[in-house]
Amino acid sequence: MKYDYLIVGAGLYGAVFAERMASKGRKVLVIDRRKHIAGNIYSENMEGIEVHKYGPHIFHTDKEDVWAYVNRFANFNHFTYCPVANYKGELYHLPFNMDTFHAMWGVNTPEEAEKKLAEQRAEYADIEPGNLEEQALKLVGRDIYEKLIKGYTKKQWGRPCAELPAFIIKRLPVRLTFDNNYFNHPHQGIPTGGYTAMVERMLDGVEVKLEEDYLSERKMYDGMAETVIYTGQIDEYYGYRFGALQYRSLRFETEVLDTPNFQGVAGMNYTDEETPYTRIVEHKHFEFGKGNPDKTVITREYSQTWEQGMEAYYPVNDEENAKVFQEYRALADQEQHVRFGGRLGTYRYMDMDQVIKEALEDTVL
Ligand code: UDP
Repeated sequence: MKYDYLIVGAGLYGAVFAERMASKGRKVLVIDRRKHIAGNIYSENMEGIEVHKYGPHIFHTDKEDVWAYVNRFANFNHFTYCPVANYKGELYHLPFNMDTFHAMWGVNTPEEAEKKLAEQRAEYADIEPGNLEEQALKLVGRDIYEKLIKGYTKKQWGRPCAELPAFIIKRLPVRLTFDNNYFNHPHQGIPTGGYTAMVERMLDGVEVKLEEDYLSERKMYDGMAETVIYTGQIDEYYGYRFGALQYRSLRFETEVLDTPNFQGVAGMNYTDEETPYTRIVEHKHFEFGKGNPDKTVITREYSQTWEQGMEAYYPVNDEENAKVFQEYRALADQEQHVRFGGRLGTYRYMDMDQVIKEALEDTVL
C-alpha cells in the first residue's frame, strides 16, 4: 500500500490527524472534495479582512494540551466574543448578564436582578421542563424568552421552541456580573492571519489533493491506504441505507460595504421572528479593525433545513436522529479498514477544541 492513512476531509479533524501521523513518520494522503482546505473553518481574505466563509469561528478552550497544540501553528489575538442581540431595534448584551438585565428591566445591582429573575421564573418554578420553551421560561422567565430566545431559536432550528429538546438552551449561562464574554473558557482568540493559514501550517509537508471525491471512486481510494479516516457525513458514506440523518444548513450572504464600521461588533443576533436572518457578522472586528479602513465585510446568516447537495452544519440531536445514528454507528464499529472522525463523521455538534482533542487522542500510537 502506498499510504498508511487516507484522510477524507481536510477540515480540522483531518488536518490534525494528518499532522500528528505525518510527524510520527506515517505516510499520509489528505483528500477533499472542496476546492480548499480547512473545511468549515476556512477563511478568505477580502479587503484585507479575514472572512469566515462558513460562519464565524471563535477559538476557545479549557484544555491546556489543545491550547499548546494550536499555538504551534498560529498566534492567537485576544478577541473575546461579546455578541449583541437586536430585538426590533432594542439592543441587549449576551450572554444573559447584568448588562442584559439592566437594559431589560432597569435593574442596577445583582440583588435587584435576582429579585426580578425570581419573579420571572416563578411561573415555571415547579415544572420539570419537557421542551426548550419550558426550559427557557424556567431558566430566565417570560421577558427574556420572548425577546431573546423564542424567535432566534425558531429560526435557528426551524421549529417552535415547544417542539425542541430542552438541552439546547442549557449551555447558555446566566450571570450576575457585567461580563459579556460569551464563553467561560480561560483561553480564547482568533488566529492572526486567519484559520486557513493555521490549517496550512498543520498540513505543511503533508500530501493534499483537492477536488477529489472519495465516494465516487471508493474502490480506487480504498486500495491506496491501510486505513481510511472518513470525516464526511456518516449517513452519506453508507449510502443513506438507514435513511438520511437530519442537519441544519446555513446560507450566507456576504457583502462588501463602503463604510468603515457597520455595526461596531463582530456578531449581532437578530432575535425577532420576522427578520429572516439569524445574525449579521462583521468580520473586521475579529481582528480589531484590521484591513481596508474605508470598507467592511458583513455576512447575513440564514438557517435552513439541510437537503442533499447542501453543506451540513449542525446535526439535529433529537431522539429520532439519535436512533438512526446508532444504526450507522453499529456498522462503523465493525469496520476494519475505515474510522470515522470529526463533527460529520460522528454526528455531534462539537466546538473546535473538542475536535482537536479527539484527533490528538485518536492519533496516540
Ligand atoms: N440562543 C438564543 N438567542 C441567542 C443566542 C442563542 O435563543 O441570541 C439559543 C438558541 O436556542 C441556540 C442556543 O441558544 O440554538 C445555543 O446558542 P449558541 O450560540 O451556543 O449556538 P451555536 O450557534 O454556537 O450552536
